[in-house]
Amino acid sequence: MKLAMIGFGQAGGKVLDKFLEYDEKHGSNIVRAAVAVNTAKADLMGLDHVPEENRVLIGQSRVKGHGVGADNELGAEIAEEDIDEVQGAIDSIPVHEVDAFLVIAGLGGGTGSGGAPVLAKHIKRIYTEPVYGLGILPGGDEGGIYTLNAARSFQTFVREVDNLLVFDNDAWRKTGESVQGGYDEINDEIVKRFGVLFGAGEVEQGGEVAESVVDSSEIINTLAGGGVSTVGYASETVENSGGSGGGLLSKFTGGSKSQPEDSANTTNRITSLVRKAALGRLTLPCEIDGAERALLVTAGPPAFLNRKGIERGRKWLEEQTGSMEVRGGDYPVPNSGNVAAVVLLAGVTNVPRIKELQQVAIEAQENIDEIRDESEENLQNLVEDDDDELESLF
Ligand code: GDP
Repeated sequence: MKLAMIGFGQAGGKVLDKFLEYDEKHGSNIVRAAVAVNTAKADLMGLDHVPEENRVLIGQSRVKGHGVGADNELGAEIAEEDIDEVQGAIDSIPVHEVDAFLVIAGLGGGTGSGGAPVLAKHIKRIYTEPVYGLGILPGGDEGGIYTLNAARSFQTFVREVDNLLVFDNDAWRKTGESVQGGYDEINDEIVKRFGVLFGAGEVEQGGEVAESVVDSSEIINTLAGGGVSTVGYASETVENSGGSGGGLLSKFTGGSKSQPEDSANTTNRITSLVRKAALGRLTLPCEIDGAERALLVTAGPPAFLNRKGIERGRKWLEEQTGSMEVRGGDYPVPNSGNVAAVVLLAGVTNVPRIKELQQVAIEAQENIDEIRDESEENLQNLVEDDDDELESLF
């Protein structure tokens, strides 16, 4: 499916940049247009793949290109004030060619956390295409203010988008790595999952498994109805002799087909990949029981995909989620050396991580209020002499 992607803030911009890199590398054609928005000039300059004319610096009169310093209320205010500048960049997008918008932001900071919900609301008012959000939750070790920002932004962002896809840094961080190196890897994981998902709807109909190829309308229908979504992924390397790097066997098969495989093997592989994807680490860890809708995508060389595998996977997902709205299909990738299963769980409601985030945010809020009150009093005590004998100058 073709998306107009808007990266808001630093994390939003970097993940957008990665999507463009992924698209180029895999020829998946999912990013029809890319716009990066920020209040910090240096962050925009640090991007590699977003075209320069699509980088929008907002809030110059207020923060002079230096960012909002994790103040998401300021981020939201600036986004509202300068929405015309962002709209100017969106005007250059051929919107009739996109299936949906995707607004990407880290929810713990200031610019993206405050700005992304404002932008989503604005785009929804103007266009008829669905507007999705990709919201990144902060790591638990980032501190109270980031958690508070994320909890407030999450609440607002969910309300303003047609669906909020969530990625939780906390579930994905690795210890003992530099923050930058860590983010690079994490961003790869993000685009891999969402790249396969959105890329699936971009495959031309026709070919070996035509009738079971995922269509972009199936992604849209799964995400319709709003709420919060999470994605699972699992993959396995296979001996694919088809494609460009084909081995000896490709000579005998004409180089265009994958090695034939026992279909029971194919089915079993897919079934177990689906289970691993759904029960393994999700982009937002949660209980899958109670998910309102789901979409299963199996990706890989056509000879390693089959209808039976998908049907079994779908049935299993129905049982596990308790949902009758489970869609499924193929994403044939002839040259790939992997078979992968991607499971999109839409409308999840049993998410302990969000409840924990809100709890910590409330504590942080109370703590901030308390310290603010105390500090006024303490400053008063410091500045005033005990018996009030001194007079101020004016
Ligand atoms: P902003 O520029 O003010 O919107 O704030 P940032 O985007 O710099 O940071 C917001 C949050 O996003 C941080 O608290 C991190 O949790 C997260 N973050 C920052 N950079 C990255 C990144 O490259 N990848 C991921 N996954 N998360 C990031």
